[in-house]
Amino acid sequence: MKKALMVLYFGILTTFFCQSVALSRTFVTIGTGGVTGVYYPTGGAISRMVNQKAKEYNIKATVESTAGSVYNINAVLSGDLEFGVAQSDRQYQASQGMAEWSEVGPRKELRSVFSIHPEAITLIASEQSGIKTVSDLAGKRVNIGNPGSGQLQNSKDVLAAYEVALDKVKAEQVKAVEAPSLLQDGKLDAFFYTVGHPNGNIKEATSGRIKVRIVPVSGPGIDKLLAATPYYATALIPQASYPNALNTEDTLSIGVKATLVTSAKVADDVVYAITKEVFDNFEQFKKLHPAYSTLTKQDMLKGLSAPLHAGAVRYYKAAGMLKDIDPKLL
Ligand code: GLU
Repeated sequence: MKKALMVLYFGILTTFFCQSVALSRTFVTIGTGGVTGVYYPTGGAISRMVNQKAKEYNIKATVESTAGSVYNINAVLSGDLEFGVAQSDRQYQASQGMAEWSEVGPRKELRSVFSIHPEAITLIASEQSGIKTVSDLAGKRVNIGNPGSGQLQNSKDVLAAYEVALDKVKAEQVKAVEAPSLLQDGKLDAFFYTVGHPNGNIKEATSGRIKVRIVPVSGPGIDKLLAATPYYATALIPQASYPNALNTEDTLSIGVKATLVTSAKVADDVVYAITKEVFDNFEQFKKLHPAYSTLTKQDMLKGLSAPLHAGAVRYYKAAGMLKDIDPKLL
């Protein structure tokens, strides 16, 4: 009896202790993308930086694999996620009330934190499909991107720039993680993925039995698209990253940037801690993924369009970085 009471007493004490630790700790989740993309390890890299200082900040960051940029922006705004990785073009469209947000209007509570790696619109086609240019996609089975992904709008923009009507394409909307095996199984002719390089997804797509080609996204229609939008820039997909692809040179394309977004409702201290740990340990952060190899701190302040979160501004001010920031973001 005495023993039973002691066990009970100990149990109550432990529960109480665990609850009080849990109560004072802030849990944050970073929404990313498919596990073979770059967002997923990026969420991992960011969370690792802040979790290293768990004792100081009492923050525990975790990562969630999601449908991608559009999903992440919406989940951050609804409070389901505290942070999300999102393409710079999608950040722009959400803050302006365009594309998926044209009916709901500008998402005023969206906040930017920093930019990360560059992402290229990557079009992969099997050799047997005969696809060598975007114009060849007419009549072919093409994955244009899952709902909630960043690439869904990018592939539509590229097709429109080449004057290929969407209804002329046998468009699929599966997740990027599934596309390489569908291509290798002969169930897809091509797929679009807006992603940083190198990444596991394109490695998988280019390493199978079926030979594949990275198709250029360039030409007069694309030049017009570049001139008409503030968020697209030219990009190169390095041949060296995918030695098994049919390409013998780097592939010209256009691209955007991956960015970290949050909501105005997330506490300043949390956003400050994440910003500070990534910037203060920048050299360590850069080593966490080869897609960050050319990153500079200044680059990480470019490509943003939603106002900066107050917690991020607090860090940039203390670090003397405000001079590198577009005043419109402050
Ligand atoms: N850019 C893709 C998207 O927004 C995700 C790419 C990745 O996961 O690296 O859906």
